[in-house]
Parts: sequence; C-alpha cells; structure tokens
Amino acid sequence: MKPSILITGGAGYIGSHTAYLMSQSGYNIIILDTLNHKQSFDHNWATLIKSDFADTKVLKNIFSNYNIKAVMHFAAFIEVGESVKNPLQFYENNVVKTVQLLKVMLEHNVKNFIFSSSCAVYGSPQYLPLTEQHTKNPISPYGKNKLMVEMALEDFNIAYGLNYVNLRYFNAAGAMPQYGLGENHDPETHLIPLVLRAAMENKEFCIFGDNYETKDGSCIRDYVHVWDIAQAHKLALEYLQAGNTSDSFNLGTGEGFSVKEIVMAVEQICCAKINIALKNKRPGDPAILVADPKKASDILGWSTQYSNLDFIIRTAYENENTKNFIQNKSSTQKDKEKSHNYNKI
Ligand code: UDP
Repeated sequence: MKPSILITGGAGYIGSHTAYLMSQSGYNIIILDTLNHKQSFDHNWATLIKSDFADTKVLKNIFSNYNIKAVMHFAAFIEVGESVKNPLQFYENNVVKTVQLLKVMLEHNVKNFIFSSSCAVYGSPQYLPLTEQHTKNPISPYGKNKLMVEMALEDFNIAYGLNYVNLRYFNAAGAMPQYGLGENHDPETHLIPLVLRAAMENKEFCIFGDNYETKDGSCIRDYVHVWDIAQAHKLALEYLQAGNTSDSFNLGTGEGFSVKEIVMAVEQICCAKINIALKNKRPGDPAILVADPKKASDILGWSTQYSNLDFIIRTAYENENTKNFIQNKSSTQKDKEKSHNYNKI
C-alpha cells in the first residue's frame, strides 16, 4: 500500500498547495476538510473526505484503512480579529479539537505531526528579525491557540513519543495557478488579494494605519510564497522520518515590505492607479514582523526559491484573473440555462 498522509484543511489555501506537492512526491493524499469556507476542490490527485477534522469515527476509519505516515494539520480558524470577538469558537476549534485529533492519532500509533503554527505566537517583537527563541507572548486568542497546541505537542512528545514540527508561518502569499491552486478566502482579509482586487475592479483600498514607526508609516510584513511553505512541509516530514528531534521553525524570507510598497508593486504589475483610503490601525497589528529563517535553513535545508515580491504578486494576480474567468464562465452557463428554461416555458 502506498504511504499516505492525512492533510486536514487540505482544500484550503496553504493546505491545498502542500497536498499537491506531497502527491507529486509519491504519497497518497487523504484530505479532511469541511469545505465550510465555500472553497471548491476539484482535483483528482487526492481523496477528499468532507468532514470535521476531529470527528472520531471518521478519523478511526482513516487510520484503520490507510497506511498514514504523518498528519499535516492546516485546518483552523484564522482571522485574528474574529478570534478577539469570538474566542470560544477559536479555543474549541483550534485547541480542543486539535487535542482530539492528536488523541485518535496516538490511539492508532500515528506519530508524525506537522503543525501550521504562526508568527503570532511571538506577540509584539522585542527585537527583529524574530528568531525561534524570542519570548512567546501572543496578543490575540488566535496566537494563544497556536501556542497552546505547540505546548501540548511538547508534552505529548515527552509522554507519548509523538514527533512534531511546528512551522511558524509569516505572511503566506502568492499562488500556483498552473496547478489550479490559489488563495480563495471568503471573506478575503489578506493584503495582496485585496490590493489586487482594488486595482482590477477600480475599488478603494484601505491602509490600516500610516503612522507606525516604519520608513513610510505603514506596517511591514515578511511575505513568503505559498509554494516555498509547501516545500518546508515536505522537508519537515523528511526531517521527522530521519528520526530527528521535534522542533519549531520560522518560515519567512528575512525581508520585509511595507503596505505602501505592496500597493506600489501591484500598481506597477497591474498598470493601474489604486485609490487609497487611510483607516485606523487594526488592533493588535505590530509595526514590523520579519523572520529570521536561519534555523529552517540550517536544520531543514529550507530556502525560499519563489518568494521574490514580483513572483508573489504576479502569481496572485493570475489567480485572481483565473477566478474571475471561472466565475464569469459559470454565470454565462447559468444565463444559458435560464434562457433555455425560459424558451421551454
Ligand atoms: N492591511 C491593510 N489593509 C487591508 C488588509 C491588510 O492595510 O485591507 C495591512 C495589515 O494591517 C497588515 C498587512 O496589511 O499590516 C498584512 O495584513 P494581512 O491581513 O494580509 O496579514 P497579517 O499580517 O494580519 O497576518
């Protein structure tokens, strides 16, 4: 039987890119996803099971019927602002259910776990770039959720021999439209797709705060291409399979771009002038978040190959165009069906 990987949230943005890469690396891919975020998943390189990732019955079936070598856990609620408004749901989904998943894994002796963590575990930077040793003082329920799972993993490693890698993502961006993959959140809150939509649809774009202590007053973030993030998951699995110690790694480039720089880069690529509105700062947004990726480079052998800003924006742009094309095509199809029905009447 081909070795399998269980990927929770594998129909989502980072999960789907990683699932595709792992399928191309010789694994049988089982995706567990509720598809609650209206994403479509129309690919033949994975088996999609539409279910909650903590459904014990479904999990037991999967672990009994497939030769699962590892679980990659992407499924989570991700909106930081929403986590402040509705922490109960976030603690339940991101912490309690993850522990439930780990419990069923351990019952079936599945012992390799790769966790989608976040730079949100650090809170406000005491120094930059952020190394993995930086104090962990998350300022949102979302960041606390990620840290709690990391802490549980550390304890489960000691007590039950569960092996894990925490991958602390900085700002995932870009797409792989040639594989039919891209960012498709609903609602979309992330910077690059929103700036692109403003350029493409001549809509206003809101900058959240322009009096930060940065070179141009807007926030600085470390944008890393989603395909580089996918590669890190593959390396993390190889790392665990080689019997290495469970550990945490930053996934970022080490370089930061301001919101205004992103806007200018999008204007150039889309040949458009974007209408800017200045809005209040988002609560909990630190001025600068930039990774020190040295540990992932030294230990996992990871380096970014796709994360130059131009490639990130161009692939994200292509993804937006592809989505528009598909939407227009399906509404034309619906119009045809409507007129067909009308003709029949
Ligand atoms: N941002 C913005 N306007 C938007 C969305 C985001 O100015 O409509 C800023 C946000 O304040 C942050 C940066 O863009 O400084 C990246 O935000 P995003 O939500 O993409 O990722 P985050 O850093 O919150 O994970």
